[in-house]
Amino acid sequence: MTETLTHLIGGKAVSAVAERESLNPSDTREVVALAPDGGEAEVDAAVAAARAAFPAWAGASPEVRSDLLDRVGELILARRADLGRLLSREEGKTLPEGVGEVARAGRIFKYFAGEALRRHGQFLDSTRPGVEVTTAREPVGVFGLITPWNFPIAIPAWKAAPALAFGDTVVMKPAETTPAMARALAALIQEAGAPAGVFNLVLGAGAAGAAIANHPGIDGVSFTGSQATGAKVGMAAMARQARVQMEMGGKNPLVVLDDADLDRAVACALDGAFFQTGQRCTASSRIIVTEGVHDRFVEALVAKVAALKVGDALDPATQMGPAASERQFEQNLSYVDIAVKEGGRLAFGGERLKLDKPGYYMSPAVITGTDPAMRINREEVFGPVASLVRVKDYEAALEVANAGGFGLSAGIVTTSLKHATHFRRAVRAGMVMVNLPTAGVDYHVPFGGVRGSSYGAREQGFAAIEFYTQTKTAYCLA
Ligand code: NAD
Repeated sequence: MTETLTHLIGGKAVSAVAERESLNPSDTREVVALAPDGGEAEVDAAVAAARAAFPAWAGASPEVRSDLLDRVGELILARRADLGRLLSREEGKTLPEGVGEVARAGRIFKYFAGEALRRHGQFLDSTRPGVEVTTAREPVGVFGLITPWNFPIAIPAWKAAPALAFGDTVVMKPAETTPAMARALAALIQEAGAPAGVFNLVLGAGAAGAAIANHPGIDGVSFTGSQATGAKVGMAAMARQARVQMEMGGKNPLVVLDDADLDRAVACALDGAFFQTGQRCTASSRIIVTEGVHDRFVEALVAKVAALKVGDALDPATQMGPAASERQFEQNLSYVDIAVKEGGRLAFGGERLKLDKPGYYMSPAVITGTDPAMRINREEVFGPVASLVRVKDYEAALEVANAGGFGLSAGIVTTSLKHATHFRRAVRAGMVMVNLPTAGVDYHVPFGGVRGSSYGAREQGFAAIEFYTQTKTAYCLA
């Protein structure tokens, strides 16, 4: 069934010509939704609604905000089965992955229901006798949230929930590939009782995102997406002194040392590189293996990868769904070609798969014999393509791990406490995993990277307050 979507502006469903097709990547004959293509006019209206709603929302009791977030979380959790199904139909991750993401979004709202009630101010002694100093966290205003397709409900949740918890209002622009999921979230926020204008949704593509980044009525922009788009969003926001936070790509290294538990190393690589079809910014896309274990590791990994069942996201037997879009599908396959032309060896996969229905299916790719200087090890693929680099020892592995322009997540599989401890300190990444895949994070702790992966304050958990509030310091002589 094809759903025709609307914007949500000032508490009203705003209809517009809805011609942008959101296809089911598991069966491209199915149009999941038709979405309108918003632009400057819709963003203007949404910003006006968010500005009008801001004073009352900023001034609302923390309990009111907390209750709203709690209700949103409860609604999401109660409907996780249906929402998970929609997510899998629209984005292509398997049903357990889709339902799991929806549940996470629900938990995020419930976590920030708690955060809304916490006071984050301080009471300090002044250097001047008799003077008291206090700091308070105040709402900032209207936040523009620009989100990608690969976590179509979790990323909107981890941006919108803290904004609403701390008294800000929101204009969100989700990815054009997954508008139905974003619209479902907007509907639940409304159903939970959000006052008109507190949460607004404008559907559309890059033009709507650019309108948000450039809008003088938006006080802060939180962006997740590619580096190239992030650079544009960042420049636009900074040019008008708006707050900006950017979460961009990764080329995350997973180091496997000779002393690793081989089964654990293979499990980490399999999960990190191929679950969710490799479409995670924290995916283990570079696997760096020391020479004593290299050949055994490759053999064991390829055996597991070859056994992965690729198929329709809704089929319970499927372990890896399709690429989310045609653009992503072609990009994944082209990087396999690039790697092979540069001298990599295709140990497994990397091919288009013809199944019983038209979809963006490919076999998961394992490429061995790659060099850190190759494009496959420097550029983000964002698909089920893992490149392996063989190195002499731990020191060489660390050097390769630290090469390149990204720094989101990094992992090491080892039984050596010495190497694990050293890696935690020495690797250049915002998140470090020991004996775990590079992907798979908790929602109550900070998330983000270094170098070209992230810019600005950390997202998620107790760190989120930094971006969504501003500090006021008050001096008082009684
Ligand atoms: P993208 O940059 O193409 O799009 C992201 C969002 O920006 C979309 O909503 C898009 O419509 C919008 N946009 C496009 N052009 C714009 C412009 N000129 N101005 C403003 N907005 C514009 O990225 P994508 O393909 O949707 O997502 C994949 C990327 O996201 C990958 O690079 C991935 O690593 C990254 N990602 C990062 C994280 C993280 O937290 N670090 C998480 C998930 C995804």
